[in-house]
Amino acid sequence: MQIANDKAVSLHYTLTNMAGEVIDSSEDGDVLVYLHGQGNIIPGLENALAGKVAGDKFNVTIAPKDAYGEIVDNMVQVVAKEMFEGVEDLEIGMQFHADVSHGTGIVTIVAIDGDQITLDGNHALAGETLLFDVEVIDVRDATAEELSHGHIHGEGCHH
Ligand code: ZN
Repeated sequence: MQIANDKAVSLHYTLTNMAGEVIDSSEDGDVLVYLHGQGNIIPGLENALAGKVAGDKFNVTIAPKDAYGEIVDNMVQVVAKEMFEGVEDLEIGMQFHADVSHGTGIVTIVAIDGDQITLDGNHALAGETLLFDVEVIDVRDATAEELSHGHIHGEGCHH
């Protein structure tokens, strides 16, 4: 069975950046299962998987625009320290959920200057070209319930 829209796909992957550092891998854990054609995974990887079958192994290089996006300058904003009332010991690198222009996202403190806190709402992998090493494990039809939810249901998972 070939990977196409509305298929449930199981795969192993290793994600490496251009510096050769492994960022993420499924090899130590469970396979990644996703619903093809619903934007569950980054577009570049989804496109590369289309038409593949169980047992296929391949490498793909994905530009930022097809991964987590380019770094966007206007995602960086400076806010007053009072925004973090109740949070002690603000440090660079701390992450918070925040209301951003396109819904809720994760922001990271990138600079602290007195009462001025600089936040960056870019994804940690924004601007990175990503290398995926992929092995397709299984391809099956998604269930009607999975299709109606737009994601895959694992064993014992009901939501
Ligand atoms: Zn569901």
